[in-house]
Amino acid sequence: MAPVARRAADQLGVLLAQALPAGLYLVATPIGNLGDITLRALATLARANVLCCEDTRHSATLLAHFAISRPLRPYHEHNAQRERPRMLAELAAGKSVALISDAGTPLVSDPGYKLVREALAAGHRVVSLPGPSAALAALTSAGLATDTFLFAGFLPARASARRTRLAELKDVQATLVFFEAPSRLAESLADIGQVLGARDAAVARELTKLYEEVRRGTPAELAGWAAEARPRGEMVVLLGPPLPQTVTDEAIAAKLTTMLSVMSLSEAAKATADDLGIAKARAYDIGVALKRRATGSSGAETA
Ligand code: SAM
Repeated sequence: MAPVARRAADQLGVLLAQALPAGLYLVATPIGNLGDITLRALATLARANVLCCEDTRHSATLLAHFAISRPLRPYHEHNAQRERPRMLAELAAGKSVALISDAGTPLVSDPGYKLVREALAAGHRVVSLPGPSAALAALTSAGLATDTFLFAGFLPARASARRTRLAELKDVQATLVFFEAPSRLAESLADIGQVLGARDAAVARELTKLYEEVRRGTPAELAGWAAEARPRGEMVVLLGPPLPQTVTDEAIAAKLTTMLSVMSLSEAAKATADDLGIAKARAYDIGVALKRRATGSSGAETA
């Protein structure tokens, strides 16, 4: 056995030998590539008293792949109201309950939020086991700004509601991350192009799987590709922040001229900078030049 395999097996053995304390465990699972399971996820799924998942047949395949033979109970939007009290009672009885979704991180466009709220309200321990996440995998491979991003889930399926939602997000100064169904990709990208305009964008498809692809372009370019190629599989749509608007010197001078008739140069420069979203120093310099031209003086304020 390769040293790395021996070490991983040792570490897993250590985890498996420890008792799992009572609590609700939110376990991230692979979004395609089963190699992305974590050692903690395996050890938790193998030891939790209760295992809940969205689709028992789907998750049974994952467990079988790792030779974990455990009963699975469904927890999904249709039975959640009935199942939650039972899971909370199990937590109250000192059991460990693990929740997984079909893929990725539970609660992210997946069930679990109300369960976590109620478990916390009842004073139970809630532990998140981080791991695969389609939104983060897409964000980090898209080549768009990562310092500020807004995950906005699925866009509405109906075109009018979708455009309304996009209009709400138009001025958000962040990378936007959406989940999207392949059947709606082309029309959503076309709406994005119309409502949000030209900006950097990407579609991340089938991440961690055989046909993984990250395609970049403007929303209009990507809409054209999607309409033509009709890509399949699971996908995430990402939009970079709005591009900075270029403000011309003439526009700044026009605004300053109006303001200089009622306030000092310093005040006018600040108000102009705030209004146009530019640096105050730039507005001030243009104001100095305007005053110089008007009076023949140096223009700058001395006080
Ligand atoms: N909770 C999951 C997570 O954290 O990744 C997301 C669940 S959500 C119901 C499913 C959506 O995630 C898909 O419709 C798709 O937009 C995105 N997704 C899931 N797996 C993906 C993959 N391998 N590549 C790209 N997008 C994926």
